[in-house]
Amino acid sequence: MVADERFDIAIVGAGIVGLATARELLTRRPGLRVGVLDKEPAIAQHQTGHNSGVIHAGVYYAPGSLKARACVAGKAKLIRFCEEHRIPYELCGKVIVATEESELPRLHELYKRGQANGVPGLELIGPRRLRELEPHVEGIQALYSPTTGIVDFGRVAHACADEVQARGGTILTGHEVIAITQRDGLRQLVTPVGTIEARVVITCAGVYADRVARLTGAPESPKIVPFRGDYYVLRPERAGMVRSLIYPVPDPRFPFLGVHFTRRIDGSVWLGPNAVLAFSREGYRFRDVNLRDLKETLAFPGFRKLARRYWRTGGAEMYRDLSKRSFLKELQRYMPDLRPDDLLPGPSGVRAQALAPDGSLVDDFVVDRQEGALHVRNAPSPAATSSLAIAELIADAVEETTDLGPARV
Ligand SMILES: Cc1cc2nc3c(=O)[nH]c(=O)nc-3n(C[C@H](O)[C@H](O)[C@H](O)COP(=O)(O)OP(=O)(O)OC[C@H]3O[C@@H](n4cnc5c(N)ncnc54)[C@H](O)[C@@H]3O)c2cc1C
Repeated sequence: MVADERFDIAIVGAGIVGLATARELLTRRPGLRVGVLDKEPAIAQHQTGHNSGVIHAGVYYAPGSLKARACVAGKAKLIRFCEEHRIPYELCGKVIVATEESELPRLHELYKRGQANGVPGLELIGPRRLRELEPHVEGIQALYSPTTGIVDFGRVAHACADEVQARGGTILTGHEVIAITQRDGLRQLVTPVGTIEARVVITCAGVYADRVARLTGAPESPKIVPFRGDYYVLRPERAGMVRSLIYPVPDPRFPFLGVHFTRRIDGSVWLGPNAVLAFSREGYRFRDVNLRDLKETLAFPGFRKLARRYWRTGGAEMYRDLSKRSFLKELQRYMPDLRPDDLLPGPSGVRAQALAPDGSLVDDFVVDRQEGALHVRNAPSPAATSSLAIAELIADAVEETTDLGPARV
């Protein structure tokens, strides 16, 4: 088999993680031949282009976890990157609101976590201060994070891609990787439009992370289970009801943050996302069904364990997905002035969430190494915020395991 193109490093997936990784490698090693392949006709078409756009500060994550460290470090890098590239962002602040006494221990736990993670300026505030910050919100106590922010991650990904190309990297869209073979210490990435050869392959394939990793013989587990998140958009005349970001106290059993109010960098306000099992990995509507995806999810023992444990919660989420009234009721818990006609239909995103065989949703970021291959197996939220820090970790791992030779300037 003759390769159509040769690289030192081929990256599968032109989402924000793959592109940030290509940028990091080329910054460290000018002259390295780096190619980024994506199956879509354009970059950032999946999670990177379908998310809340929140620059997380690092409140939620277990202290010491990769998520906690990469979020705090990634946020600082992201802000510098936005300034260098003149990408609009805003540190508009965020409140996590408790509406019932029973939520207070969890709220206080988040405060402790945030402090342990080094999140600056966190404050527990009472109803009066909450009203000053968000006049339409009611709660008995809230956690205020003044440095949480907003940005358009699609724009960040495009700026990364521009830098990659300016530094001599190649981005190949319309290149779906369908097989990966190995010969003479090189990896061959087979796509319907040609074969790409590389010394190292790095996969950052989002909802297909498990399938693409398996192409190099990596284990099936953790499996990706797609969770769709639907948004409503707040009627533009009522957008003034939300000044920044307003979140509920999350259910600690799940990695999702609960339906919230997100002011976007363009001034619109999104409500959501919920979290329902998607019947197709790239199914952005309830009615999208892909039989292979669905069968694979249902056949995975970890999913069956998860479903047995949480069928009630899953069913309620599914009902809320179909019932606007129920979605609204959830939001009215802390914004009682909200009316049914304030909610307009909005976009959706599909989260790539890794699931372990024991039925637990994998909480932390996961990167697996193999000879000549490195796989990002779990990069859910806040991986967009953390992308530039994740890229550093991946580049470190590649440099540790592969002799890339001296930089070719
Ligand atoms: C609803 C929602 C809300 C979110 N909100 C936030 C938020 O506010 N803040 C935050 O920090 N994070 C948020 N996230 C998480 C964040 O969007 C993701 O963690 C991040 O975008 C992951 O980037 P990625 O590059 O790993 O994946 P993706 O952006 O999904 O990119 C993967 C790429 O791989 C390509 N690919 C897959 N298979 C192949 C193949 N075989 N061959 C070639 N290419 C392939 C795909 O086409 C895709 O472009 C949210 C996610 C969702 C879904």
